[in-house]
Amino acid sequence: MSQEFDKLKQQILDEAERLGPDDSFSFSCHPGVSCFNQCCGDVNIVLTPYDVLRLKRRLKMSSTELLQRYTIKPFTADQKLPVALLKMDDARQGKPCLLVTDAGCSVYEDRPWPCRMYPVGSASARTESDPNGPEVFFLMQEQPCEGFKEQKTWTIRQWIENQGIEEYNRWGDEFKEITLHPRLRTMELSPHQMEMYFTACYDLDRFRGFVFGSSFLDKYDVEPEVVQAMQDDDEALLHFAFRWLRTCILGEQTVTLKQETAEQYRQRLAAQGMKIKE
Ligand code: SF4
Ligand code: SF4
Repeated sequence: MSQEFDKLKQQILDEAERLGPDDSFSFSCHPGVSCFNQCCGDVNIVLTPYDVLRLKRRLKMSSTELLQRYTIKPFTADQKLPVALLKMDDARQGKPCLLVTDAGCSVYEDRPWPCRMYPVGSASARTESDPNGPEVFFLMQEQPCEGFKEQKTWTIRQWIENQGIEEYNRWGDEFKEITLHPRLRTMELSPHQMEMYFTACYDLDRFRGFVFGSSFLDKYDVEPEVVQAMQDDDEALLHFAFRWLRTCILGEQTVTLKQETAEQYRQRLAAQGMKIKE
């Protein structure tokens, strides 16, 4: 997503010991370890759209409120796409995550993907010359983490299953079809496209307002069962949001104009000497 991210990924692929799904490691994290909660502070946790969906449902608040209260939206010049990061409490010592309590993570069952994966990291070894390069795993030991001294052993596969990561990975794969799309490597998004991307991916309740509170459904041909599901099913709405981004950002025909709207556009463009893209 940014040159910095690409560099970090390459460094990991070059330097870290690579593990496969059946390689094992010793680890356990519980309130009895002396470092309990210490890793839930002063840390960059990049959220995926599915992380935000799970957190807003868990905290029973709208995505707009969740984003305002618990995330930041940093933006650097070399960043292609906006992202949401979990907010840390900068005013307190150790800059703890706003969701940590003395008893541990207050949203444990719905904690974001990076919090589930730790201490396992993963990176795709996909390159332009090897587009099917496998996903590789490695262990992250960035701080004095006592968990590695515990006796409990896991294979990478067992860890992924135990931490409920598979569902997050399925959503992550769908999201990556957009973020890693080759077209994004060569195009600059307009401010309007950036805004639409962020709203569709992260601010689902606002995106629902856009779909149902504008002329969107008058103009676009969306299957009645999809329209019905999107009204109160956040997962259905997020699937549709990804589909819509493929149309409005990547130029694919995943959501098409209704025939009469397309005809009106055709006539309007013809009057200006232009043609609608088929
Ligand atoms: S540093 Fe390691 S052992 Fe300590 S709380 Fe974090 S994950 Fe658990
Ligand atoms: S979401 Fe939970 S596990 Fe993740 S950093 Fe915050 S308190 Fe820790």
